[in-house]
Amino acid sequence: MSEKRSSEAWGGLQFNVSQLLKSPTGTRRDYDIEVDLFPLDGNMVIVAPVRGHVGFLRAGNGILVTGRLETAVELECTRCLSEFRLPVCLEIEEEFRPTVDIASGAVVSHDGDQDVANLIDEHHILDLTEVVRQDVWLGLPTSPVCRPDCQGLCPHCGQNRDQGSCTCETETIDLRWAPLIASVSDRGD
Ligand SMILES: [Zn+2]
Ligand SMILES: [Zn+2]
Repeated sequence: MSEKRSSEAWGGLQFNVSQLLKSPTGTRRDYDIEVDLFPLDGNMVIVAPVRGHVGFLRAGNGILVTGRLETAVELECTRCLSEFRLPVCLEIEEEFRPTVDIASGAVVSHDGDQDVANLIDEHHILDLTEVVRQDVWLGLPTSPVCRPDCQGLCPHCGQNRDQGSCTCETETIDLRWAPLIASVSDRGD
């Protein structure tokens, strides 16, 4: 059995899975996701809708969520300090477990290894928000650059060298290459 739904507004990463939890192992549901504006921790912000597709599979003791989502984040370039947009692709594969047994209503205990982000709450709401947040966070580069050949800022005057040269540029290059130029000259070239 497969059922397709769409999520529209923010909050579209929360799904009521009570019916799916009552269904036999192997039951699958598919969802198209499109969620706007998704604030992130720190000074990094999601700037494009979170879009994609996820499938929920009733399996084992819970629900296996797989899928692929795309979005974009705004980051600050570590070389030129300008803000730029970085596309992000998330491959989701997470097992969610219930905190309440769907048949008896009894509380299900979990050991300390269980990630709380992957628990279905007592109202049978499966919330992908934290999983998406963590996956975006983990996928970010440690030293983001706006483009691979970003020239960065002049260490002397702070001029963004992608936007134009400064008067100290010649001097900077001369200093940096001086030992190399000297050694080349020594070889008589
Ligand atoms: Zn840059
Ligand atoms: Zn300069």
